Amino acid sequence: MSIVELSRKIARGERLTRQEWLQFVEEAPLEAIRQPADALRQRLHPDNIVTYVVDRNINYSNICTAVCTFCAFYRKPGSPEGYVLSFEDIFKKVEETIELGGSGVLMQGGLHPDLPLEWYEELLSELKRRYSIHLHCFSPPEIYAFTRLFGMSTEAVLRRLQKAGLDSIPGGGGEILVDEVRKRTTTKCNTEQWLEVMETAHRLGLPTTATMMFGLGETVENRVEHLDRLYRLQQKTNGFVAFIPWTLQPDNTKIGRKIPDRRSAEEYLRWLGIARLYLDNVPNIQVSWLTQGIDVGRQGLHCGANDLGSIMIEENVISPAGAHHRATEELLRNSSRLEGFIPCKRKANYVRLEGAVSLRVS
Ligand code: SF4
Repeated sequence: MSIVELSRKIARGERLTRQEWLQFVEEAPLEAIRQPADALRQRLHPDNIVTYVVDRNINYSNICTAVCTFCAFYRKPGSPEGYVLSFEDIFKKVEETIELGGSGVLMQGGLHPDLPLEWYEELLSELKRRYSIHLHCFSPPEIYAFTRLFGMSTEAVLRRLQKAGLDSIPGGGGEILVDEVRKRTTTKCNTEQWLEVMETAHRLGLPTTATMMFGLGETVENRVEHLDRLYRLQQKTNGFVAFIPWTLQPDNTKIGRKIPDRRSAEEYLRWLGIARLYLDNVPNIQVSWLTQGIDVGRQGLHCGANDLGSIMIEENVISPAGAHHRATEELLRNSSRLEGFIPCKRKANYVRLEGAVSLRVS
C-alpha cells in the first residue's frame, strides 16, 4: 500500500496492521504523520485546550539497587553521595510547591534496599493529612521492587499505598518495553512486570501515565512493539490517562559513552505524531519540552500533543543526564497561546483545575 493510502486508512479511523505501521513509520514524511496526528488531537480535544501541571519531582532517595545504563541519578547503597530525604525536607518542598500554585507532587526514588513499607505509608498519609495535594508517586519499577522486598503481591502493595493516600502512578521506567532492549540497559524490571503493575493499578482505580524513552539503540520494530504493548493494555483497562515520549539524555551515563548523540528534533516530532496515532485509545499526549526545549514543545502541539507537561519546579533525574531546559508557568501558558491554544492548568491525573489548591493547616 502507498503512504497516501495508509494515511487515508488512518484518517478513516481504521487500524493499520503491524506491517503497515512499520512501513508508515519508515517511509512517511513528517507532514504525512503530522497532519493526521493533529486531526486526531483536534477530534479528541475539540475545545482547543492545552493542559499543563504545576508540580515538582521530589526524589526521596537516590540510593538504588538497580543498574540502568542511562541513569546519571542513582548511587549504590553505601555511597557517600547517597541520600534519603527527611519527612521535614519533603514537607518543605511540598509547601514551596503549593505556594507556587502547584497542585501535586511527583515522588519517585531509587530502589532503596532498606526502607520499610511503613515509611512510604507514613509519608503518604502525613502528606494527605497536612495538605490538599495530589500524590502521583512510585513508578512500576519501585512498586515491583516493593513486592520483592516485602514479599507481597502487587495488589497488596498498591492497596496499602492507595489507602495511605496514593492518587495515581507515573509511567516512568517504561523506556522500551521489549526485553531484548531492557536486558542491555536496565536490571530494574522486565516488560511483563512493568505492565503487570500498571494493569493492577488500573484495576484498583489508580490512573497512570505511560512513557517511552527512545534512543537506546533500539530498532523501529522495538518502538512499535512498545506502543503496541501499551495499546493492548489500554484496550483492556482504559487506565492510562496520558502518554509521554522523550529521548535518551546521554550525559554522565554509561550508555552515553556508546551513544553520545541525542535524537534529532524531527525524529522526536515524528514519534510524537506516531504515538498520537497508534495510541488512539489514550486521551492525552504530552510533549517533553524538558528534553526537547520549548520550541520543539510548541511544534509538538501541532504533531498530536495536547499537553505541555509540568513546569518542573524541581527535577533531579533527567537533568544530570543533560536536560537543562527550564520553563515557568507563564512560559507554558504563553507558548500555548502563541500556537493558537487555550492554556489550562491540570492535576497529575489530567483533571483540569480552575485555581490553585490551598494549604491545609496541619
Ligand atoms: S533509573 Fe531508577 S531504577 Fe534505574 S538506576 Fe536510576 S534510580 Fe535506579
